[in-house]
Amino acid sequence: MNFLPTPEFAAELDAQDALRDFRNRFHIPLTPEGRSTVYLCGNSLGLQPKAARAAVEAEFESWEKQGVEGHFHGTSPWMHYHETLTASTARLVGAKPVEVVVMNNLTTNLHLLLISFYRPTAMRYKVLMEGGAFPSDQYALESQVRMHGLAPEEAIVELVPRPGEHTLRSEDILAKIQELGNTLATVIIGGVNYYTGQAFDMAAITQAGHAVGATVGFDLAHAAGNLKLALHDWDVDFACWCSYKYLNSGPGGTSGVFVHERFANRPDLPRLAGWWGHDPSDRFQMKKGFRPMTGAAGWQLSNAQIFPMAIHRAALGLVDEAGGMAALRQKSELLTAYLEFLVRNLDLPREMLEIITPADPAARGCQLSMLVHHNGRQLFDFLAAAGIIADWREPNVIRLAPVPLYNSFGDVQRAGQVLAEWAGKAK
Ligand SMILES: *Cc1c(COP(=O)(O)O)cnc(C)c1O
Repeated sequence: MNFLPTPEFAAELDAQDALRDFRNRFHIPLTPEGRSTVYLCGNSLGLQPKAARAAVEAEFESWEKQGVEGHFHGTSPWMHYHETLTASTARLVGAKPVEVVVMNNLTTNLHLLLISFYRPTAMRYKVLMEGGAFPSDQYALESQVRMHGLAPEEAIVELVPRPGEHTLRSEDILAKIQELGNTLATVIIGGVNYYTGQAFDMAAITQAGHAVGATVGFDLAHAAGNLKLALHDWDVDFACWCSYKYLNSGPGGTSGVFVHERFANRPDLPRLAGWWGHDPSDRFQMKKGFRPMTGAAGWQLSNAQIFPMAIHRAALGLVDEAGGMAALRQKSELLTAYLEFLVRNLDLPREMLEIITPADPAARGCQLSMLVHHNGRQLFDFLAAAGIIADWREPNVIRLAPVPLYNSFGDVQRAGQVLAEWAGKAK
């Protein structure tokens, strides 16, 4: 498509956008002057669906009116509340219902999964991950490795871009997996890197990992609700994600977990157990001896967090209503391509500003990361003053994430216009 940087052109794209009305289903934050912000920060915290408040209030009411009986009565008894999320969650990540469960928070789930799927032996003990992974993932891995009596410097192998490059090449990831061979226990990578916005070829990585006998898992914090995923078909062993970024389920919201069907009936797999993962037929008989439920549900520990799950259910409902990830991704590619056009149109020298996110749409989600070599913080503040909500990462990266559910082409055009004003001054 031949893009133009004008508001009229953006308005035309908005008029053709089948998803444009979903924007009205969200609360868009206002500037201090009361104007709508251009919110490009869904990679950090997604916006509030208007349906979220009523969903939570329904559970307040159930609690208010019924007390403990809310577990068994009402429109959505709490006993089975988490099960009402299963179908949408399975669709979201391309899984079978038995392969997913919603529970806890992301880092907690990462630990629970690593307990089961990172099982180092004297020969096979290495973990392959991204260099500069999100700090929580780094700490989780370091502590897991130590728990097995290993030294992180020896057990953790980090993938880093080639000199002068910002993102990883697929062929380098696959070559590293091959090179590690039978010393490699587990590959754990973000589906989309939080810093660069690079999306990885999860199918190829999984295949390569399995070929050398390793388990393969993904942290999908920046991929769930952003990319069209097919975890079952890609044969991924395990994955987890949070719900408050592209899934708009509120700060600290609950997390999703995927465990491939082939592990559905593996009570022998080491795991940390709790009563909510126990066979429901005699969960309340309070007997000795843990017998895990079939599938991902067998990794649950505690009874469901109803309030965050109520928000999550409302938010997932919007994804389904919009036609799922296929429809969202179609708009997303165009929206991000338009933002990319506007940034390139600034015609700034590379020494000043460069996009470090891959140009190939298949190798990125909606986010574009701009490396601003000079006065990056100034640009960020300039954007903020103009009502453009972006996200700043030290030392000098600005992340912009147009989200197909609630961002318009007009939003992106406006962001481009403010960038152009700054560039005019900076040149
Ligand atoms: C957002 C994010 C987290 C946050 O973890 P929480 O347990 O939800 O606080 C962890 N890892 C990655 C890759 C993230 O993007």
